[in-house]
Amino acid sequence: MKLNRFFLKAFCSVKDSEYSKYFSKNSVYHQKDKFLFNPRLKDTQEHQDSPEQIDAKVNQLLELLQKSKNAVILTGAGVSTASGIPDYRSGANTILKTGPGKWELEENKKKFLEEKGKPLVIKAINAFPSATHMAVSKLYKENLIKSVITQNVDNLHHQSGIPRKDIHELHGNIISERCEKCQYVHYRDFYTRLKHLKWGDQHNTGRICQRNGCDGQLHDTLVFFGESVLQNIKQSAQEQIENADLCVVVGTSLTVQSAARLVWICQQRGIPIVIINLQKTNYDQKALKINGLCEPIFDLILKKLNLQPKKFTVQREIILRFQKTGFCSFDLFADCESFDGSHLSAIKQLEIWYRKENGIEQYSSLEGHPYYFQAEDSFNVDQIKLNFFSNHKEKSHFTYDKELLQNGQLFSMGSPGSLIFLSSKLVYEFQDQKDEWVAQHKIDSYK
Ligand SMILES: [Zn+2]
Repeated sequence: MKLNRFFLKAFCSVKDSEYSKYFSKNSVYHQKDKFLFNPRLKDTQEHQDSPEQIDAKVNQLLELLQKSKNAVILTGAGVSTASGIPDYRSGANTILKTGPGKWELEENKKKFLEEKGKPLVIKAINAFPSATHMAVSKLYKENLIKSVITQNVDNLHHQSGIPRKDIHELHGNIISERCEKCQYVHYRDFYTRLKHLKWGDQHNTGRICQRNGCDGQLHDTLVFFGESVLQNIKQSAQEQIENADLCVVVGTSLTVQSAARLVWICQQRGIPIVIINLQKTNYDQKALKINGLCEPIFDLILKKLNLQPKKFTVQREIILRFQKTGFCSFDLFADCESFDGSHLSAIKQLEIWYRKENGIEQYSSLEGHPYYFQAEDSFNVDQIKLNFFSNHKEKSHFTYDKELLQNGQLFSMGSPGSLIFLSSKLVYEFQDQKDEWVAQHKIDSYK
């Protein structure tokens, strides 16, 4: 029933596009390539080129990259399997550590677990960007790639250091939620989708948009099979493809229509297409196809360009805003931004500690984005402590002690109504060799 609904929707939704006109004219293509509309029917055979073939093809790719002025990269689940996130379409005999994809596991889970044991799987929110993500991020920084279009929802391209403005997420993001009223997309440091919801189902997250008193309902942004890609995302991804002079497809078998359609546009425009993937795709004959795992191929690309991959960092800009409301009282707003200035609700809990004559009394808040406090007795504030979600096991808290708060003088500055901003940059760099984090904290400014 569910599958029938999916088919019906897939055929209906493509009818109005040029893409569908092409395919409806060609009914044989429809019959031969049913899997284009059915994600479960797919040849799962994996293919690997020899090291010599890979070397020669990477040289061709580099030539195309260096000639291009507007290269776009289109990624799929294959760039995240090395991060421990399983894909959908790998078969029972895959070489991936994450094991077979979702479809294969659904059909043969018991048999696979008995024969090969539990595959290496990590929750997407705790996953580190793979070597491929970090290499793509380096190529972006070197201006060799202008933007990323991805079918992945794991947020790892942003984690690798690419600003949100240049990432187009066709199927949404596990940490974002969109306001149905003002359309603003909020980014959190936690899964936004409610746990009890089934596949597709509904998207309401139960939270309310707190932007300028909007009060609209928030919805998670995930797009499930049978649901349509949001119009504005579809449009922005298409604009990237229409302006591109090179398209590099990585880690996707191009079975899902939203991505396949973009590559079809590239083919119609006659721009070079490079595909790096273990499995065959429908576009292999029209592209420079490199058969293999993406990690060693991207290692080789960086090596040939004499570039070092970026290190994974978690960077947050904390903004505390104090507004004096009286001689010894103030309102405190606490919020957070990601490295590119995009908003991120990364604070899990905020605590204000007051020092009283009889010891220390704690006040804390558990909910709210941004955090908001009304504080009396400002001269006795001992410390302000921020707790984070620490999804990558980086330091889970940061404390503004008495010294940072200027021994209470911070709160005596200005007259009632005046504003004081305290902005702090927290950077955690992951040292892969020692498997540990190194933290740098910088208090930027008091204004
Ligand atoms: Zn809103």
